[in-house]
This record gives sequence, structure tokens and C-alpha cells, in this order.
Amino acid sequence: CGIVAYVGPKDAAPILLEGLQRLEYRGYDSAGVAVVASRALKTRKVKGRVADLAAVVPARFKGATGIGHTRWATHGVPSDVNAHPHLSSDERIAVVHNGIIENADALRQRLEGEGVKFLSETDSEVLSHLIARAVDETDTLEDAVRRALKSVVGTYGIAVVDAQRPGEVVVARLGSPIVLGIGEKEMFAASDVAALVRYTRQVVHLEDGELAVLKADGFHTFGGDARETAKQPLTVDWDT
Ligand code: GLU
Repeated sequence: CGIVAYVGPKDAAPILLEGLQRLEYRGYDSAGVAVVASRALKTRKVKGRVADLAAVVPARFKGATGIGHTRWATHGVPSDVNAHPHLSSDERIAVVHNGIIENADALRQRLEGEGVKFLSETDSEVLSHLIARAVDETDTLEDAVRRALKSVVGTYGIAVVDAQRPGEVVVARLGSPIVLGIGEKEMFAASDVAALVRYTRQVVHLEDGELAVLKADGFHTFGGDARETAKQPLTVDWDT
């Protein structure tokens, strides 16, 4: 339902929680965040409101790269476990996902056949496992995400972090919106510009099939053919 991502010099968690609050008007049943610190992921996720999530995120939840989600359940009941982010088994990759993976059952069966243990009932969890397998075979996180998405049928807006690559977020979209927010030595992404306007008015809308790599000092976007695309930032007018 709702996605927020941050990479920069600040602690990500308060920014993610604030962004998720701005997406509450869209409705949701659960919420979660993951941040990268010292090459490890820290995750909190709950069934309930963003305020319930904020209540379980410790004051010292350090990590300057992170992703957050509000879920509107389509596959699997609303629960803490089914809330996003979803992690790979080695807890290296975390993914938040909007949309529906239509071939999730087939992908899950294949992965379970290869020994992968699933924790949730969601269609989304296949993504973290597929990306985790692909990171071992590729040089960059964007290549791993691209490779994983090739086997997926359905719709997605996703944001991905890799504990071994602090300072980097990869987002991609097909049938579900993703917008980038450009800050001063920091980058944001969200499913809705409403989550970004408190921090920046400079935005870039991803097109279907596009993928973007965000780092504190800027972003790169790529088309479906993996070629870099040139995007002109827009300035949004917004009364907060
Ligand atoms: N299909 C996913 C799920 O049920 C994502 C739903 C959403 O867009 O929030 O977890």
C-alpha cells in the first residue's frame, strides 16, 4: 500500500515513520521499517497503526539507510509476521512491496524445493529470497533486483536494502507508483509524493519498468533494458 525509503546522513527511522504517517489516509492494516547499521538489518513490524509501530521502535534505532511500509493485505491475513519488510533467510536483504505477485505460489514452491524457509503467508516474501539468491551471482544490488524481477509476474512498487551495502537503496516499479525525492546530500523515495514534501520539493517519477539506485549523493535510473535513463526533476507545489 505505502512505501517510504531514505538514504543520507541522518537516522532513517524517524523520517520513515513520519513519511508513513503521511500515507495513513490511504488505509492499511499493518506497518513496518528496516534500517541498515553496522552491516546488519534492524526490523520492527506490527499489525496496527503507524503509532503502534512507532511505540516499538526504540529511541536508539540507529541506521542512516532504511525502508518503511504500510500494508493493505492481499495475500495472507493482517499480522505482525505478514507485515513488511520481508527479509531473506540470512537477514541480509529486506524488501517492502506494493502490489500483487501473481506467480508467487509457483515461485514459492520452487524456492521451498531448494530449501528456502518462508516465514510469512504473503506473495511478497518471494522477492527477498529471489534477490538474496541473485546477490551471490551479481556485482551490484540493482543487477540482483533486476534479475529477481525477471522471474516475477504481477505488479510491484518495491524498495530494497542490502545489509552488506549500507548507503544504498534500490527501488523499482511496474504498475505501482514510485517517486524519488532529491534532498541535500540525502535521497528519499515513496509510493506517493505526500510522504516526501516535508523534506523536499524536487521529485522524479519512475516509469513502469524503471529501476533506480539511491545513494546520499544522488540517484541513477535505468530502463527495462538496464540502460541508464535521463530524468529531469520536477518541482512540486504543495501546502503542508
Ligand atoms: N500483496 C502484498 C501483501 O499482501 C502487498 C500488499 C500492499 O500493496 O500493501 O502483503
